[in-house]
Amino acid sequence: MTPILKHPAWIEIDLLQFQRNIALIKQHSPGTKLCLPIKANAYGHGLIPIAKAAAKAEVDYLGVACLQEGILLREAGIGLPILVFGAIHENQMKDLIENELEFTVASLYKAKLVAKQCQDIQKKCKIHVEIETGMQRTGVRPETAFSLLNYIHSEKCFELKGIYSHLSTADDPQSQTAFQQIQIFQQFSSAYKKAHTAPLLYHLANSGGLCYFPEAHLDMVRPGLLSFGYFPGPKIQNLEGIKPILSVKAKVAYFKVVGKNQGISYGHTYKTKQETRVVTVPIGYGDGLRRDLSNRGEVLIRGKRYQISGTICMDQFMVDIQHNEAYVGDEVVLIGKQGNEEILLEDMASLCKTIPYEILCQFNNRLPRFYYDADNPSSFNAV
Ligand SMILES: *Cc1c(COP(=O)(O)O)cnc(C)c1O
Repeated sequence: MTPILKHPAWIEIDLLQFQRNIALIKQHSPGTKLCLPIKANAYGHGLIPIAKAAAKAEVDYLGVACLQEGILLREAGIGLPILVFGAIHENQMKDLIENELEFTVASLYKAKLVAKQCQDIQKKCKIHVEIETGMQRTGVRPETAFSLLNYIHSEKCFELKGIYSHLSTADDPQSQTAFQQIQIFQQFSSAYKKAHTAPLLYHLANSGGLCYFPEAHLDMVRPGLLSFGYFPGPKIQNLEGIKPILSVKAKVAYFKVVGKNQGISYGHTYKTKQETRVVTVPIGYGDGLRRDLSNRGEVLIRGKRYQISGTICMDQFMVDIQHNEAYVGDEVVLIGKQGNEEILLEDMASLCKTIPYEILCQFNNRLPRFYYDADNPSSFNAV
């Protein structure tokens, strides 16, 4: 075992459940392609292992935010189509093209730079055009999109693969804004389809769109959060089998008895009420565990729920377990199940006044990740 795998805090990923989540999503949007967004280290789940599992589950596309994520995938031998969502920069164009990454073009200025680059290296490129429908982030306005698309058609170097947009409020099933965005997108697509009949992928739905707005499914869906097992808003019946695949765990590193009225950790924000037992857990904000969880977050040890005692340090924190038992080496669960108890990522996120997405992508690579899958059902395989 390499030293990292002996590290006393880690992440476990259940790839069997991941396959189930993907299968349920496919059932829910039959006849549409599936693009799996795996930006930000696959929402903290590990870019390459998740990409490999996605290929096994036969997703059609992978989605990333930027060039470097795309290159990491290509270097790992991932052959699936990869779409880079983020705006591209001039100095990245050559690498995007040479790594066969599909990327987003949303202005005439960038399109011309890409065309020049293609000419310089004598290569073609595959692109998607992003239409602005209400996010005000990186899309081209529908009025301007026609002239951009005309230019794209006039240049032989472009292979236009898709036209897409992004929903800003689809986590709310009642959102009028989401309805409006869908309408704007549909109006644009039907006008465009009249002029250009070549088959293109029209895509719009993130997890919220997939769950709550069936009319947004179109030719391809792009659910990120949902694939990893979390609903962006209320759960829906059809997708009840969708479950989280990530747990965060550690081993008790130290045990001691502490007297009455003693301050624990930096700043002494926690004081013992009586003589008590205290354990130290070797994971901290240096691993991505939010410091907002100091004196608020919970952990499971021997099937019991405890609150974190005192401030979270960079590499560890303490837990007052009162008169209860725990031994050095015992498993501590920070996210996930133990016995009959479970700590939900959603609860952790609301304690930190943030969303599950942010908590997930903050866990960094000091924590090894172990993957449980069908080929190795009795143990977690580190990747
Ligand atoms: C991140 C992202 C998604 C996925 O969003 P979720 O809310 O995680 O489903 C889809 N499309 C684009 C363009 C994105 O950037």
